Amino acid sequence: ESGLDRLKSPGLNKGLAFSIEERQALGIHGLLPPRVKTQDEQVQHCKLCLDRLDDPLNKYLYLMGLLDRNEKLFYRVAKEFLSDIMPLVYTPVVGLACQNFGLVFRRPRGLFITIYDKGHVYEVLKNWPETDVRVIVVTDGERILGLGDLGACGMGIPVGKLSLYTALAGIKPHQCLPITIDVGTNNEQFLKDPLYIGLKQNRVRGQEYDDFLDEFMEAVVQRFGQNCLIQFEDFGNANAFRLLEKYRNLYCTFNDDIQGTASVAVAGLLASLKLTKKRLSDNVIVFQGAGEANLGIAQLCTMAMVAEGTSEADARSKIWMVDSKGLIVKDRPEGGITGHKAHYAQNHAPIRTLTEVVKQVKPSILIGAAAIGGAFTEEILLEMAKNNKQPVIFALSNPTHKAECTAEEAYKATNGTCVFASGSPFDPVTINGKTLVPGQGNNAYIFPGVGLGAICAGIKNISEEHFLMAAEAVASMVTQADLDQGSIYPPLSKITECSVRIATKLLEYAYAKGNASVFPEPEDKESFVRAQMYNTDYVPAIPNLYSFPKL
Ligand code: NAP
Ligand code: MN
Repeated sequence: ESGLDRLKSPGLNKGLAFSIEERQALGIHGLLPPRVKTQDEQVQHCKLCLDRLDDPLNKYLYLMGLLDRNEKLFYRVAKEFLSDIMPLVYTPVVGLACQNFGLVFRRPRGLFITIYDKGHVYEVLKNWPETDVRVIVVTDGERILGLGDLGACGMGIPVGKLSLYTALAGIKPHQCLPITIDVGTNNEQFLKDPLYIGLKQNRVRGQEYDDFLDEFMEAVVQRFGQNCLIQFEDFGNANAFRLLEKYRNLYCTFNDDIQGTASVAVAGLLASLKLTKKRLSDNVIVFQGAGEANLGIAQLCTMAMVAEGTSEADARSKIWMVDSKGLIVKDRPEGGITGHKAHYAQNHAPIRTLTEVVKQVKPSILIGAAAIGGAFTEEILLEMAKNNKQPVIFALSNPTHKAECTAEEAYKATNGTCVFASGSPFDPVTINGKTLVPGQGNNAYIFPGVGLGAICAGIKNISEEHFLMAAEAVASMVTQADLDQGSIYPPLSKITECSVRIATKLLEYAYAKGNASVFPEPEDKESFVRAQMYNTDYVPAIPNLYSFPKL
């Protein structure tokens, strides 16, 4: 590279942190103001720039600009100010960015592969300049957060998720590839919007869609190898479950909305048991919503109860699910009980509303993931408080305005007795003189660590056991001090440690089970994991010169 390339390339640029010697040697002296800064000073400067902006979308744009300019600095800033940065690159602000992606799009940060590239997906993948891709996050934009079909504008999600892979699990930026598959959108507003950046047509479905996805999966393996991890993200319900079943044993793949969510929710539930002093099997759980998130959680809860010694049938009898047609019961007149829902159909008379379900079933745990904002009404919360000393309430729908209730609503209605967690972040709440810090059931506790483990061991398939292990790892990181303030998740500042612990456990399991493909087997798995992780320190731009005798 020329010196100018170094200034322009986000992976090599150091900005004002280039030393005078480097500037002279690289031929870029004079292109920068004379002041040389340390990375620490640059980090403070970035924070200052970010704080000057009020509009969250502008903050998002600033951060993406920084990422395009100076990668190491972006990730240093992300690490240093994680609780400020996370809500920007992830829920809720990433949702806003996707809704406005036509406005936000600046320069390539990932691949768009359209249905018209059929027969040429491999060639499109070859256009990506990096060859050592280890993780792909792919979406087709059909169910972005709880915002519905955002088509090609869903690209913000893979971009955001992969930036968390690097920030939280140290997966190197050049090993991450965001992909959006564009088969059209059924979003009427976008179809009419001159700023929309995707294909202006309705979604392709059926055999043509399936064949296209098959081609995509095969092309990824052909280009990046069998061990390349492919994370499915924000696909519509009908495709998500089907594709997971179809691909889970053929590729190194998982669906974060189903499996990652399940894992983080179960992590929170396992930690909540330390507060309620129960076994998971001693609980009755009502789920509002029976989609990707809640069916995944229900399945992993069943596994966790079975691990406690409960039979599968007994475990399922403790799980009650409500979908758009009401309580899921056998022979429901409204029907609609297909696929995984059937496992949880109870022998009970039909009940139409969530309020009535909560009154009759008297759950100890209430979990919402139906993207119906405000679904946990005061009446429901009061009922939970009436029936339980410490009700457990998870309002998982994203972004914030879709949450079933706010932290404040939950704590107020239950007089501070509930154990609360949410999908989008909420501020601490003071009630009866006690400050409660709600945990965020953020998938970011799980997927970066799972990815890191899969990459370090070269695992070929990812199973439910991996996600239960990840849940246990995160729950084990919750301290008494966290629990004392009502948090059932470790603070965000400990996520990187969660990732390391998850990855280490996955490695131990993979080598014990013979599923690892990286050899020789590392003796100290934790240090092996740590040694692979991305370092945000700048490296010298000019080699170390040393003297040599005249020959
Ligand atoms: P999904 O697969 O589309 O499922 C939505 C479910 O909600 C469906 O079962 C649907 O019923 C049900 N529903 C719709 N209206 C309802 C109503 N009025 N009453 C009861 N149920 C109703 O979506 P998903 O992937 O599960 O995601 C749902 C939400 O969870 C989103 O907001 C997402 O952001 C959030 N989420 C959060 C996390 C997290 O916090 N870590 C992770 C993943 C997802 P039918 O089956 O009858 O259509
Ligand atoms: Mn998602």
